[in-house]
Amino acid sequence: MRTSEIAKRYLDYFGKHDHLIVPSASLISPNPTTLFTIAGMVPFIPYLMGEQTPPKHRMASNQKCVRTLDIDEVGKTTRHGTFFQMLGNFSFGDYFKEEAIHYAWELLTTPQDQGGYGFDPEKLWMTTFTDDEEARSLWKNEGVDPEHIQIMGMEDNFWTTGGPGPGGPCSEIYVDRGPEYGVEGGPIADENRYIEIWDLVFENYEVDNVKSKTDLHIVGELENKNIDTGAGLERLAYLMQGKQNIYETDEVFPVIEAAERLSGRKYGEDEKADVKFRVVADHVRSALMIMSDGVRPSNVGRGYVLRRLLRRTIQAMRVLGVTDPVIPELLPVSKDAMVASYPELNDTFHDVSEAAYGEEDAFRRTLDNGIQILDVAVKKAKESGADATVSGSDAFTLHDTYGFPIELTLEMAADQGVKVDEAKFRELMSEQKSRARADALKKRHNVDLSVYDDFKKTLAKPIDFLGYTDFSARGT
Ligand code: ATP
Repeated sequence: MRTSEIAKRYLDYFGKHDHLIVPSASLISPNPTTLFTIAGMVPFIPYLMGEQTPPKHRMASNQKCVRTLDIDEVGKTTRHGTFFQMLGNFSFGDYFKEEAIHYAWELLTTPQDQGGYGFDPEKLWMTTFTDDEEARSLWKNEGVDPEHIQIMGMEDNFWTTGGPGPGGPCSEIYVDRGPEYGVEGGPIADENRYIEIWDLVFENYEVDNVKSKTDLHIVGELENKNIDTGAGLERLAYLMQGKQNIYETDEVFPVIEAAERLSGRKYGEDEKADVKFRVVADHVRSALMIMSDGVRPSNVGRGYVLRRLLRRTIQAMRVLGVTDPVIPELLPVSKDAMVASYPELNDTFHDVSEAAYGEEDAFRRTLDNGIQILDVAVKKAKESGADATVSGSDAFTLHDTYGFPIELTLEMAADQGVKVDEAKFRELMSEQKSRARADALKKRHNVDLSVYDDFKKTLAKPIDFLGYTDFSARGT
């Protein structure tokens, strides 16, 4: 079953159960403390917090998400993407635990020819919160093998916003991939064999004193209890499509195939190369989706995340032996794989691709200069002894003189089995910053103020401050 069909079935199922289906919100987070939308619930926070009235008390969506926190896992685990889609059903003071558990079980286990996902009930496992006897008994009533229901503590199976407000236990659903993927004993024993697919959060408490999860205080029961769930679409897809990981699913794999063609290498022959193939496929898609929502490469915030994704792609392709431009070959392939689910890519792709190709051109110039210097530094490090380490000062010169980012030095050195003296690099960076600050101060004290005097003379009358009344006066 194609990924888009899996998403459609989810939304059809919850639509049938009276949920309002809403389109994905932008990847640009509405929450100023996070760069990207990291979970399906993010656009619904005002409803979950009771700050706004939802258009309906049951809603569901397929939300685009980006989690940069998982970037180092990409390609190495089977289940972490920087971009992924989170399916979710939500109840704002409407149904609660019993229905949420029933819906999840029914959708997962109903045969595919009857509109469900057709998972074998024998392969499904659940974790539940220590005190949540009710959830355990509800799962058993659905027919879950009691041995497949495990108990986890506050750290893993209790959700809060991180501050005072709603909170509550959760129950996670896992699929057992079988003995060839790890040890027996359920998700508690092995999270690579047992893959988490869906998290159900039962928000029924008001909590405060949330210093740490193990030390919070439950004030009481919420008047309006909420349900907030998140199911990983790519994880469902890889398990349902009989693939080994999320990068081999239909919306991602075409980029791996394109990278095979470009590099003349085969995916599946060498684990180290495979990790690079998977990083390429993941990062190209994330860059595409982030740019389609309006972000452009830069040195700060979201733009910097995007720049890193594009640079890591180019660098991974170099490790696979491709030194020619790669983004013009890979980005259109990713767009073709995603456009059925996101038709807006047809409108955004022209501008997105121009910006992405320009970014690669600029980065290739940086790389060409830096790589030769790095090669010399790596050779020097290897010759210096067993614990081969590129010196902090070489890493600093690469950064300072050649504009070669430290992340790249770290990654490219690691690819060759060499460490980098990062502590020394950071020390040199902060010395340089202090020097720059001192220079700036010196300049300010010696500045030629005549230019301001001239400027003052040109002002015929005093300026009225209009900042509070006139937006144009604030330049907006
Ligand atoms: P994990 O512990 O496996 O990283 P998580 O506990 O961080 O997952 P949640 O925050 O509960 O996951 O997210 C809900 C669902 O979204 C998960 O059950 C999973 O199916 C999916 N998901 C989470 N992170 C990713 C990711 N980086 N890539 C793909 N799917 C993800």
